[in-house]
Amino acid sequence: LTCRIAAFAKPSPDGVAVALVFRDLTQSKRVERMRADFVANASHEIRTPLAALGGYIETLLGPARDDSVARERFLKTMAEQVARMTRLVGDLLSLSRVELTEHTPPAEPVSVDVLIRRVVKALDFRAQARQASVDLILPADLPPVIGDEGELEQVFTNLIDNAIKYGRQGGTVHIDARVIDHVPSRAGWPGRARPVAIAISDQGPGIAREHLPRLTERFYRVDTARSRDLGGTGLGLAIVKHILNRHRGALTIDSTLGQGTTFTVYLPARD
Ligand code: ADP
Repeated sequence: LTCRIAAFAKPSPDGVAVALVFRDLTQSKRVERMRADFVANASHEIRTPLAALGGYIETLLGPARDDSVARERFLKTMAEQVARMTRLVGDLLSLSRVELTEHTPPAEPVSVDVLIRRVVKALDFRAQARQASVDLILPADLPPVIGDEGELEQVFTNLIDNAIKYGRQGGTVHIDARVIDHVPSRAGWPGRARPVAIAISDQGPGIAREHLPRLTERFYRVDTARSRDLGGTGLGLAIVKHILNRHRGALTIDSTLGQGTTFTVYLPARD
């Protein structure tokens, strides 16, 4: 517990009146700490590819100067590092943008059906690279949801991309959207609108229970090396969480080790 105590004294007819004010700073200290950790993590994530680039440049200017095969190989690796930093900076910007707008809920009607088909098409090359297929169950009478189309596109891109990336090679990603009566109580549902639930399931190795509560924290990864190898930034689910907060939506994660994981997004239907 961090506490600030202020004391005030004032002369009064009966002597001196003293007031003590206790202010609990635990929460603000925690937020401060989280901010500092975030900046440290982000700096570290940027410094790693920068250091690698510096090393390659030195080698290209020195020992590998006249070696065209090595030059080609190094330049390819350098391009990958630059792509990684670009993704990271893009994700950091998305995160700060959505944090700024989090308190003003969006209001456009968005067709989930059209949106998901567009995202799946855009990720087709990623699915092909893992010989994965995507199975869609999108009922024709699905109502639109209330949201921001660009932000929701990012939510589904991140979740479907993860399902392809961490799912089984040659497996199927199932996407199922429907109107439901009640959101599971643990998800929280402040609105009165009917919820549309969109479930994205993969057949990957699953996620151990102890990781689930921390999965949407910035830079939290179950397996850092694997995430990096697959080009991850560790920010995708944090962005998803913030966008869903802004939409007064919710997210649940269900996973069974050895069987797969289901991420379910709940959004208010426009009735
Ligand atoms: P990353 O860029 O590392 O993929 P995310 O924020 O999208 O970052 O995800 C955080 C972590 O959650 C990932 O590093 C991975 O360990 C885990 N994860 C996310 N989606 C899945 C999934 N469908 N199956 C298994 N693990 C997952």
